[in-house]
Amino acid sequence: MNDQIPTHARVVIIGGGIIGCSTAYHLVELGWKDVMLLERKRISSGTSWAAAGLLGQLWSTSSLTKLAKYGADLYSGLEEKTGQPTGYQRHGSLRVAKTEARKSEFLRALGMARAFGIKMEEISLDEAKKLFPVMRTDDLVGAWYQVDDGVTNPEDTTQALAKGARMGGAKIFENTAVLGIELTNNAISAVKTEKGTISCEYIVNCAGMWGREIGKMAGVSIPLIAAEHMHMTTEPVEGVYKGMPYLRDMDGLIYIKEEMGGLLMGGFEPVAKTWGMNGIPDNFEYTQLDEDWDQMEQFIHNAILRVPAFAEAGVSNLTTVPESFTPDTTFMLGEAPGVKNFFVACGMNSVGITSAGGAGKALAQWISQGYPEEDLWPVDVRRFNKWQNNINYIEERVRMEAVENIYADHWPFKQPVSSRNVLCSPIHDSLKNLGACFGVASGWERANWFAPKGVEPVYEYSWGRQNWFKYSAVEHMNIRENVGIYDLTSMGNYLVQGKDAKSVLQKICANNVSVPVGKVVYTQLLNERGGIEADVTVTKMEENKFFVITAAATTVRDFDWIARHIPEDADAVITDVTASYTMLGVMGPRSRDLLLKITDADLSNEAFPFATARPISVGHAEAFAVRMSFVGELGWELYIPTHLTQGIFDALMEAGKEFDAKLCGLHAIDSLRLEKGYRHWSSDITPDTTPFEAGLGFAVKMNKDNFIGKSALIKQKKAGLKKKLVIFTIDDAEPLIL
Ligand SMILES: Cc1cc2nc3c(=O)[nH]c(=O)nc-3n(C[C@H](O)[C@H](O)[C@H](O)COP(=O)(O)OP(=O)(O)OC[C@H]3O[C@@H](n4cnc5c(N)ncnc54)[C@H](O)[C@@H]3O)c2cc1C
Repeated sequence: MNDQIPTHARVVIIGGGIIGCSTAYHLVELGWKDVMLLERKRISSGTSWAAAGLLGQLWSTSSLTKLAKYGADLYSGLEEKTGQPTGYQRHGSLRVAKTEARKSEFLRALGMARAFGIKMEEISLDEAKKLFPVMRTDDLVGAWYQVDDGVTNPEDTTQALAKGARMGGAKIFENTAVLGIELTNNAISAVKTEKGTISCEYIVNCAGMWGREIGKMAGVSIPLIAAEHMHMTTEPVEGVYKGMPYLRDMDGLIYIKEEMGGLLMGGFEPVAKTWGMNGIPDNFEYTQLDEDWDQMEQFIHNAILRVPAFAEAGVSNLTTVPESFTPDTTFMLGEAPGVKNFFVACGMNSVGITSAGGAGKALAQWISQGYPEEDLWPVDVRRFNKWQNNINYIEERVRMEAVENIYADHWPFKQPVSSRNVLCSPIHDSLKNLGACFGVASGWERANWFAPKGVEPVYEYSWGRQNWFKYSAVEHMNIRENVGIYDLTSMGNYLVQGKDAKSVLQKICANNVSVPVGKVVYTQLLNERGGIEADVTVTKMEENKFFVITAAATTVRDFDWIARHIPEDADAVITDVTASYTMLGVMGPRSRDLLLKITDADLSNEAFPFATARPISVGHAEAFAVRMSFVGELGWELYIPTHLTQGIFDALMEAGKEFDAKLCGLHAIDSLRLEKGYRHWSSDITPDTTPFEAGLGFAVKMNKDNFIGKSALIKQKKAGLKKKLVIFTIDDAEPLIL
């Protein structure tokens, strides 16, 4: 063992890029004493040094926007705090639209900015030209200005964060590569380095494009790979001034900023160059990749259209450096599923400098208190399934669209076009033959709507009503007034079994699950603050056997939540049985009539009341029928052993002819659940919402023995509610509400 490296640290951060340094900075800020950061080469020598340094503050959710805003404020004060200049300047940013569609997108962004407290205004093209004099504006339809956006020097900012961390007591070791991770009972226990083994309680994976490999060391999926990102700089250009706001021309897929009196320009291309597929070379350190002017050409073409001076300006530099991208162009934060105290902050998708301040702070809070200050589900590492770590899956997605998506039109309901048809229901092909237009959720191919005969099942995107709306409306009405059939095989299913299964679930669930066999209980799983961590149904199948159903998107997350809350000494085990069952919904006032054609079960209200479940015969086989749904009464969800699905589906479709039953897609399910007022976890309810605030008090049994969150709810009841979820309708049915 090298005597310079301690043999123990409470927390070891892997990676000395801007994310790792920010995490160390914020941990010591929170009072952590024994913080160690290990960097294989030198601080900032991975991707961080190469960034353009643009800092945009407006993000897709309020909590992420707060983090970006916090980051800018942090960088502006870092020099004073650490003595290390950062190069931070608040010069504002401009975004311009060339098409009406893009204008609609930015007008929506403007609304979000107002809601999130970001200063953004629509300005005239003349005003835009004054701010960015070298820009051509005659082909534009709009411009917007964000006065508080800025730029920073990424290398200096990373060094300032590292310095601040050191000043707070963090120990940073450069030239110390991590080679392995040791677990004890699925919890972090040590990290192996080229200089020896360090025992530790926590590991934070901040290894940028190496993050996937570090994840593998702990048996955790971190779906990211690197793609080349390039920007070029010109000699000084007339009309360019110091303090000029930076410009995003997303229709041209480019960004442009002032750099030493010239212009720096980079972009996000439709077909990206993935990199490092055979591993990242050991000697990678401040490494630049070979210049590829052919790849750069598309940006130069668009840059000349926007700023004609690019045609004449001498090029002083082309920088090409790999950066990590994820399948959904969103970074990963939080505690990885399945491994205690293994935290992740990587896959920054070219916004790592903007995000580092906030991400580091959020992660430090998460590590310290066990949860983030505000809900961060959109970036939660638990949104990915294990199989999504498949390199072919990630590579195709990143090459074909994840990079481009940063600036491509962000259409509502936009579906990926690459890495498709991986996770499919067994009746996928039948649905396809019947006109299904598929979308993707959590990797699952799902029928979102059905095209009638003669109509192509393809999305035509717009910011108004899209082509599928009228077909989905027919599906919606059919369930409301007649009977519809849908495939929701993507729902996550678990079995919780064992002598202590009931008592474990009683502690985890806010509702009472001590019920007779065959009863279905709708319940939330709460955190200690009373916030809703999960929204599920629990069905008692047998005395010591419970069937838990959750949404596709939260299958990994909810499994992890329940598994972590099963005490070590309890006789209870949770198994993910999602792959064992398909789910076909038969819904609508005539669902009973339809089902009675192909079952001998008694489906009367007396024999089969709401919120009960039991096995029934269907067609020539058997399904576990649950009288509960996400679209309202009447209806049954049929949980079918996977291999029996096709036969039951065919029987349902055949029997359905007499009733004019229609296949329905996810869009109809969503509009029906909205109409019914059913809450959707992540949109309407989150870990920051209690059941009382969400109007779900009916699903909480306050007279039950202690359950997680009960004491917080008691306090809230006493103090009264400060916020409440309300449902409202609007008079004008035309605008697309998202
Ligand atoms: C050309 C370009 C322009 C960009 N422009 C912008 C921009 O304008 N705004 C913006 O917000 N973002 C921008 N980015 C993205 C930004 O640079 C990245 O998102 C950010 O730097 C990622 O930081 P990181 O700490 O995750 O990764 P890195 O900086 O790569 O840090 C990870 C570190 O982990 C270390 N490491 C890996 N494996 C090990 C191991 N086994 N043991 C020890 N250490 C290890 C590596 O050596 C590396 O130093 C740009 C990127 C590029 C390439």
